[in-house]
Amino acid sequence: MNEEKALEIINLLEKEYPNAKCELNYNTPFQLLVATVLSAQTTDKKVNSVTENLFIEYPDLDSFLTLSREDLEEKIKSIGLYRSKSKNIMNMCIALKEKFNGKVPSEFDKLVTLSGVGRKTANVVISNAFNQPAIAVDTHVFRVSNRIGLAQADDVLKTELQLQKAIPKEYWSLAHHLLIWHGRRICKARKPNCPNCTIKYECKYYIKLKAYKP
Ligand code: SF4
Repeated sequence: MNEEKALEIINLLEKEYPNAKCELNYNTPFQLLVATVLSAQTTDKKVNSVTENLFIEYPDLDSFLTLSREDLEEKIKSIGLYRSKSKNIMNMCIALKEKFNGKVPSEFDKLVTLSGVGRKTANVVISNAFNQPAIAVDTHVFRVSNRIGLAQADDVLKTELQLQKAIPKEYWSLAHHLLIWHGRRICKARKPNCPNCTIKYECKYYIKLKAYKP
């Protein structure tokens, strides 16, 4: 897709979602990193319900380091995959203390060395906590961008690279939020609400659907 059309889509989505932003609650880069690791395969709402008290009791790296893995498991057990998430978060905390002077690094290459931190999490952190352009491809961004035709890829990495090519850098972070918001509200996985979609006339999926006459 060319840049002009990509920008037209972003523009339409921005009008629809003028307040699009990260829906995880956090006050610091460390809290965002923990919340994003917790968010794998669950909803932001669920994560926020757990971190609300967790971040009051344990607001920073040093307080997290007083927790045992079992303590953390107990506190996040209402979230899926809580055992592996606890293990990753505790290993991540140790590495932050020992290798990064107790600070969350702002560089992508350093972030992905931490336990439980893949491309998506690293991109979420550098974009939201450090204001650097990044397109984190989660399940919504993957599905929506491939339906629209902003990308045409069968995996998240190819999707990320194609989106980076199609969208000017200064719009990467905004596009990430807009695609997530659209995926959560209209372009849902099982039943996209195409008739009420603001970008339907720009969408490859919809155009194909309308052209199909059985
Ligand atoms: S037209 Fe349908 S498939 Fe395309 S973006 Fe909108 S809801 Fe999704």
